[in-house]
Amino acid sequence: MDVVADLASDVLGGRPNGTAQSAQAQRYLVDQLAGFTTPLAGITYLQPFDQGTNILAVIRGSQLPDQYVMVGAHYDHLGTDCPADGADTICNGASDNAAGVAEALSLARRVAASGPPKRSLIIALWDREEDGLLGSTYYVSHPVVPLDQVVAYVNFDIQGTSMTPALRDITVAVGAETGGPNLQQALDRATASTPLTELKLSLLFGQGRSDHAVLFGAHVPVVFFTDANNGCYHTVNDEVDIIDPAKLDRQTDVSTALVTDLLSTSTPPSWVGNAPATTFADAQGLLEVLRLSQPDLGLLPAADRPAMSVYLEDLQRIVAAGPTAFDAAATATLLQGAVKLVAAFTHVDCRALVPATH
Ligand SMILES: [Zn+2]
Repeated sequence: MDVVADLASDVLGGRPNGTAQSAQAQRYLVDQLAGFTTPLAGITYLQPFDQGTNILAVIRGSQLPDQYVMVGAHYDHLGTDCPADGADTICNGASDNAAGVAEALSLARRVAASGPPKRSLIIALWDREEDGLLGSTYYVSHPVVPLDQVVAYVNFDIQGTSMTPALRDITVAVGAETGGPNLQQALDRATASTPLTELKLSLLFGQGRSDHAVLFGAHVPVVFFTDANNGCYHTVNDEVDIIDPAKLDRQTDVSTALVTDLLSTSTPPSWVGNAPATTFADAQGLLEVLRLSQPDLGLLPAADRPAMSVYLEDLQRIVAAGPTAFDAAATATLLQGAVKLVAAFTHVDCRALVPATH
């Protein structure tokens, strides 16, 4: 949590790229990494590009050092480019994405502490994600190791928070089908004993909105861990007090288990580019979210509620019809409703998301 508080402090001014505050954030992150990683060949932790700087580090593998698992999170945020609230004008981006960076660092620290892994682990902290995934896009055209030697990329964006208060024990893992059954099974093993409900959704539900989409486009299997957009998203109220430290710890347990598995597995994922866009399991997962969020429907503006009732009925009907009836029409209903659902949840007042422990 120290890392979340440090990155989300007003001193760093919302971490806008190309500023003195961004340079300060970079120095802070390199200091963190220097304790348990080494730079990659050819760069000294920093990969500058057009008005941005990616940060890259490696924990070198002992047996298959030229095979890599990558973890990544964007460290940039919006500076002051989000709606103000009274005197507060700084978009601190605690959940988006100080918490994701903290999780990547803490995971990598745990890997380093348990001795050299079999494969190598790359830690990538991206810049300019908020400008359109520009840091990761630069990286895949200037990779530091061959992309076909990366067995999987694990992305963190928006962690330690919840879509609504009643969903505090729910978190989301998107896209494991991009690595085929080997990646899906590795994710299942990693989530088997977590007290969190890990909702596994197809890649499409990540809406191409974070850096995992770029790595997938470069034919790398991906998993994207996220708590999705909520009422704090891209507002000045995405502050450290909305982060639930216990949840972030549990999320780190899961992602560390997944990455540890991928670093040593004898059955690594291989890229699948043509998986079905949505599955019956997506409908089941979204139905569970909607059911669990029912106590919070009163937090939504009245205008959002009818659509949520319709979506609940649609999902109940789709799930009741069973997997063999899951067709193109069901897919369309599922997707259109999901877009409305995400939009509705961003209308919940951010202050309702502050965990009770604060
Ligand atoms: Zn983000």
